[in-house]
Amino acid sequence: MNKNSSNIMALAPNTSNKRETVCIFGTGDFGRALGHKMIQSGYPIVFGSRSTQKSSLIPNDAEVLSHAEAARKAAIIIIAIQRQHYNFLTPLAEILHGKVLVDISNNLKINQYPESNAEYLAQLVPGAKVVKAFNTVSAWALQSGTLDASRQVFVCGDDMEAKQMVMDIVRALGLTPLDQGSLLAAQEIENYPLQLFPMWKFPILLSLGLTAFFFFYCLTRDIIYPYVYENEDFSFFIAISIPNRICPILALILLALVYLPGVLAAIIQLYRGTKYRRFPDWLDKWMLCRKQLGLVALAFASLHVLYTLVIPIRSFVRWRISSLTVSQALNNKTEPLNNTYAWLSDSYLALGILGFFLFVLLGITSLPSVSNNVNWREFRFVQSKLGYLTLVLCTAHTLVYGGNRFLSPSSYRWYLPNAYMLSLIVPCIVLVVKFVLVFPCLDKPLTQIRQGWERNPKYSE
Ligand code: NAP
Repeated sequence: MNKNSSNIMALAPNTSNKRETVCIFGTGDFGRALGHKMIQSGYPIVFGSRSTQKSSLIPNDAEVLSHAEAARKAAIIIIAIQRQHYNFLTPLAEILHGKVLVDISNNLKINQYPESNAEYLAQLVPGAKVVKAFNTVSAWALQSGTLDASRQVFVCGDDMEAKQMVMDIVRALGLTPLDQGSLLAAQEIENYPLQLFPMWKFPILLSLGLTAFFFFYCLTRDIIYPYVYENEDFSFFIAISIPNRICPILALILLALVYLPGVLAAIIQLYRGTKYRRFPDWLDKWMLCRKQLGLVALAFASLHVLYTLVIPIRSFVRWRISSLTVSQALNNKTEPLNNTYAWLSDSYLALGILGFFLFVLLGITSLPSVSNNVNWREFRFVQSKLGYLTLVLCTAHTLVYGGNRFLSPSSYRWYLPNAYMLSLIVPCIVLVVKFVLVFPCLDKPLTQIRQGWERNPKYSE
């Protein structure tokens, strides 16, 4: 069988129901799990192993042969073996000539070796067509069928036909192949499963830092201050009152931080008069994690909603209402309805409800399954226009909550303003600068710059 004919046979599943035999080197966890799944999908499987004795763990329908014998039976060989053992393949180079070798290996560390495992395999067996695939799928997920989170399989390789054959297998297993290009992409694909929430690091560390800051700030103002000056013990505020103060503050600041880098980028582009110069690294990284910042902000906003829902059943709140009622009864005096306060309170709640509704909408549209179904313009409309509207509503919600307390001296304790006042700084800056940028004298040149116009072309060199 020449190499081309074997490839054509492997493509046969599309035209007939018979699938081509696939060889798997290695009867370890991954080899067995993949073999099992492939047998279920109709592929005859032959294992190449150091021991041809068939253990009870190996799927019944599979054959177990020596590496050389197994390789002769298939055009595609999946190497389910750790990279450090690859040198056993060198003596098999002749048998493997022209075959498609699928490298599925991962490393223990990012960039552990100077070249990717797949490139190393291609160097060891120069006559073979090496394709990288399956390394982001776990043996456990294959075996248990819980592939929902890892349905995408990154595939790369220099030989288009070989890559196509592997992508056909991926599809036949009910997975989604994602062509990542040539074998040069293998290093990145191998690093991918080793990354630990790379885009979430900054948002999570930032929110932890801000939470700690605002926690001690509120502790000082709302618990220590009344204890020192009024001998009142409000330590129970730690359970609900303080978290319910911190959550909306963080939600608002983080939401504003989603839009701040865009505003900074616009100022930088206007100043430079070109879009063809790279932004500083910190700004690039900040822009890349805006979605994660927004989702963390949404999590804090949702917690704020939950904490707010339990306010009426809090013992402290019920005690305050009943003691107010009793004191009014004892004094035979009823407080008249203050229309201004009623308006402020209802507006504050309405702004909060609308802001949270749009916040949730933004979160939903950032989900890949939703964002994949809207076009670029629709996505930009939701994330930019509705995003700014959300920021306006949430900022207004906080401003109205403050009402006329901003200037009242009683709201300052040890000269410290109420924490929500601090939360307004970043959103107000973002909204004011954005408002200024919308003026035609700035918006027009900015639009031109973003369309490729340069004030001073020398700048981009
Ligand atoms: P494993 O359970 O340790 O199995 C590796 C197999 O390699 C062994 O069962 C053995 O098969 C063979 N082998 C061991 N030493 C050898 C040597 N000196 N020469 C030739 N063959 C040797 O490992 P695994 O978890 O299946 O992982 C296999 C590969 O898949 C690795 O590269 C790993 O990075 C990759 N991977 C694994 C997972 C996973 O979830 N486990 C996920 C993605 C990728 P025989 O006894 O039959 O010769």
